[in-house]
Amino acid sequence: MRIDVVSIFPEYLAPLELSLIGKARQDGLLELNVHDLRTFTTDKHRTVDDTPYGGGAGMVMKPEPWAQALESIAAARVAVTESGGSGSSQDGPAKQPVLVVPSPAGERFNQALAYELAEEEQLVFACGRYEGIDERVIEWSAEHFTVRPVSLGDYVLNGGEVAVLAMVEAIGRLLPGVVGNPESLVEESHSDGLLEYPVYTKPSSWRDRDVPAVLLSGNHGKIAQWRRHEQFRRTAERRPDLLAKFDAGGLTRADRTALGELGYDVVDGHLRHRPNDDVSD
Ligand code: SAM
Repeated sequence: MRIDVVSIFPEYLAPLELSLIGKARQDGLLELNVHDLRTFTTDKHRTVDDTPYGGGAGMVMKPEPWAQALESIAAARVAVTESGGSGSSQDGPAKQPVLVVPSPAGERFNQALAYELAEEEQLVFACGRYEGIDERVIEWSAEHFTVRPVSLGDYVLNGGEVAVLAMVEAIGRLLPGVVGNPESLVEESHSDGLLEYPVYTKPSSWRDRDVPAVLLSGNHGKIAQWRRHEQFRRTAERRPDLLAKFDAGGLTRADRTALGELGYDVVDGHLRHRPNDDVSD
């Protein structure tokens, strides 16, 4: 995968040189280029913002530097494709890259979207600042990119860089070979619509707190059942919204019993919480 990030603070993306993502870049599993938006300005002050039409507080990012930056990234891709490089496939022309525009007004980023974006050949991230990027850039970009405004969550950051750090890490760790043991991607929160069970390591007793006995039993069936039930309990306590969306079709009888104890019944293939049933009981 190739990732391009455009920002007025390229140094903000330095953590992507560290840890698993940094190693993936060194190992050639991920090509990541960070571009300074100001290098695409033409005035001596390297201006990237101006006052908003219609008035109001704050500044808006000017369209021209963004157009120059995104055109240069699109042109680099075309050059690679024409030379038969990594941008082309044997089946035909390369897929249009996805332009991810971080924005609190975008669709919510989640694990499903991380998996979807991890399938792409090229992702381009446009980090907004101030009040955001002139809307015409987003419309015009559709000529070169599949455009996806994406929000990290329902709050407002100062810029897109923090959102890009989170998204690139979530997407990058799904690329083949990035995480040493691919099994660890299977059993984790949000992989199956539930939160992960609690985890423990040595010592088995610490400050008067013992690891649940079942985990020391060596009985793999019982351990799997305990973990599954802990997933249900934790999800019911912390994220009941996930249980409301959970597909109950594949639940075992033991799962249904555990969920019943938590106050959940299966109705028409979905979990429904019994009225007046307290989850913490
Ligand atoms: N005026 C914008 C609004 O109300 O929708 C907020 C602009 S915000 C101060 C500046 C930039 O931070 C945005 O252009 C975007 O790149 C980034 N940003 C802020 N909150 C974000 C979020 N929740 N998810 C993704 N990016 C965000």
